[in-house]
Amino acid sequence: MTNHEQMWEELGLDVDLHKELIKSIDHTFNQTVGAQNERPASMAYFDRVLHESHGGRVAELIEARKNGKKFVGTFCIYVPDEIAMAADAIPVALCGGTQFSIPYGEKMFPRNICPLVKSTFGMALSKTCPYGPIKDLGVGETTCDAKKKAWDVVNFYVMEVPQKKSDLDLKLWRQAVADFKSRIEELTGMKVTAHRLTQTIDIMNDKRRALQKLNEFRKLDPPPISGLDALVIMQAAFNDEPTRFTEHLTELNNELDDRVKKGISPFKKGTKRIMISGCPSVMGNWKVHSLIEKSDAAIVVDETCTGTRYFSNLVEDGVADLEKQLDALAERYMKIDCACFSPNNERMETIEKIVDDHTVDGVVQYILQYCHGYNVEAIRVARILNKRKIPNIKLETDYSEEDMGQLRTRIDAFLEQL
Ligand code: SF4
Ligand code: SF4
Repeated sequence: MTNHEQMWEELGLDVDLHKELIKSIDHTFNQTVGAQNERPASMAYFDRVLHESHGGRVAELIEARKNGKKFVGTFCIYVPDEIAMAADAIPVALCGGTQFSIPYGEKMFPRNICPLVKSTFGMALSKTCPYGPIKDLGVGETTCDAKKKAWDVVNFYVMEVPQKKSDLDLKLWRQAVADFKSRIEELTGMKVTAHRLTQTIDIMNDKRRALQKLNEFRKLDPPPISGLDALVIMQAAFNDEPTRFTEHLTELNNELDDRVKKGISPFKKGTKRIMISGCPSVMGNWKVHSLIEKSDAAIVVDETCTGTRYFSNLVEDGVADLEKQLDALAERYMKIDCACFSPNNERMETIEKIVDDHTVDGVVQYILQYCHGYNVEAIRVARILNKRKIPNIKLETDYSEEDMGQLRTRIDAFLEQL
């Protein structure tokens, strides 16, 4: 038995089934991410983060807990990591992106809810998630119906994310942020101070700045990095320790700078430029990105929670007063334009701006099956794109490989018209 296998056994996991899960993820990874050419050498680190997400990273968290830290599992980019970190907790996003665990999720949850929710809970139900047994607190939020009701079943702490963006909603959200701070302080027994919050706001802003810089490289023709690799980096961002992540991303950005000077890219100049817009693609899910880029198009931006929604807008820094820092955090996180908001005019404005900034030739609206928010909002998104004569297509899919042939045909036909 390897050290990691021993760790999984001690955590009460089904070690044999877990081996199958890893085999299945490795297979998908090799067919998609691993099958690319001209990858930057610094991508090796981010590949490793993904591969170690059930091994080295879990061992690290177990060690941190022995030293008194608390581990907080999160499932949405509305949860302010800065607050958890300021009270000496470690937040890690735990959304599932693998088909393997879905049948297990469907044993308890209805089949007709989104694959992200079923995959996440399927991991816990099949005893293949090493994070469940070491989690000190699960933090959910009131975004979509599937998640909102799932938190009730598993008894998680729930942050109230409003559904509109009026002044009244901002007040409610500001209170939700303050309540989250109190809950975290209760968990860790540590007070969130202005001094600590200044440090954690800086850590997260630095991480966002590095991701924004990566996004700038994707505006170039040709971009020095594939959309699939940019997605791998985003998936690693959800799992890795933030300061270490930023250091490695800075290294990668330096390599990209060099590649631009030398004219190195996975694409030829003039390759059709695609924007992905809609639902997140979390770790384990590389399907649509890989299909598009294997069809000789370049994904140059992701208007998703595994893309711009995660790193746009910094938290105002240089504020020394705790209440004002909480105001600044509430304001920044409320700018995230998830489809759970109505009306969601900000998202429409953002999409128009991104299309221009990245010189996008066509938009793929990526909708996870049964995600009603993004699916219905796709009508408005298509309208603004059609008005500007930007070709667009909606792909509604899940995590399975069953519709790959059909998706490939639709993608090829779409790319033909660009
Ligand atoms: S799509 Fe909405 S609910 Fe899902 S992670 Fe993003 S902000 Fe949260
Ligand atoms: S993809 Fe849509 S349905 Fe699924 S968890 Fe996110 S917001 Fe909810």
